[in-house]
Amino acid sequence: MAKKTKNMNKSTSKSEKTAMSMPQIEQNSKSIRIPIVTGKYIAAVLCVFVVLMMGGVFHYQGALRTTSAEKTELENLRKNNEAQSNQIEQLAKATVNLQADMERLNSLDAELRRIVNNEDTTNTSRAGLVRPPITSNERVEPQVQLDINDINNVVNNLQVAVKVREQSLIELKEELLAKQARLATRPSIWPTAGEVTSRFGWRSSPSGGGSRDYHPGIDIANSIGTPIVATADGQVIQSEWYAGYGETVQIDHGNGIVTLYGHNSQRLVRSGQMVKKGQIIAYLGNTGYSTGPHVHYEIRVNGTAVNPATFLN
Ligand SMILES: [Zn+2]
Repeated sequence: MAKKTKNMNKSTSKSEKTAMSMPQIEQNSKSIRIPIVTGKYIAAVLCVFVVLMMGGVFHYQGALRTTSAEKTELENLRKNNEAQSNQIEQLAKATVNLQADMERLNSLDAELRRIVNNEDTTNTSRAGLVRPPITSNERVEPQVQLDINDINNVVNNLQVAVKVREQSLIELKEELLAKQARLATRPSIWPTAGEVTSRFGWRSSPSGGGSRDYHPGIDIANSIGTPIVATADGQVIQSEWYAGYGETVQIDHGNGIVTLYGHNSQRLVRSGQMVKKGQIIAYLGNTGYSTGPHVHYEIRVNGTAVNPATFLN
């Protein structure tokens, strides 16, 4: 409280002193009062003007810098935009090409299916030649007008199409493998090379005398030692001397189908062994009831001898 009072006293005495001295200045400087004030104004105005000028210059320089930066940025943006447009165009072309590739894959898939299903492909494949793939060249030309949305749609459709096609090809592969397995176990090849000296069915008895007998297989003559092969994949169920058949091999191919190879000079497989189509199982001979070196080849379906000619390619 004491300090505040002291300050108040001090300021009071100062204002008094100023008030007292005012008349004196007014008197002495009456003639030069206006110029000084004017000068002060001029100086102030000049100061403000200079400040404004400097501000203006700085602002202008700043604006210049900004404009230049904006110009560079704009150029960069324009370049980027141009590059992106080019990229989109390339993407559109690539997408259209992919679409054409997909269509060709679809055609190929359909054609493969027809082949697998043993359909006549002559007419259908000719129809396939006039299909869309050829027109794809026109669409690959620069006038591709796909925007990003179109591209996205096409890509989405392609993704679906690829999945469908993949599934279809997987099925096709399984069908082909099954077919291959069926073919492998089907005795469709000749057991050896040579001359067919006796066919399947009723024939004049080889023993002569004008009698006829039933021949349950075919006889293929060749020199002793000619390789005899398994005519299909399967398991050996007999490899031994078998009465009139001499040295004999029998193979079970599944599905009730069994093949028999008789009169061999030598057997190369044992009972129970798995064999592949085309594998040498014996050598041609003249053992058992035989009138000359040959193989007696038989195919039995569910125990009944059938004409091997119906199986041979
Ligand atoms: Zn025979």
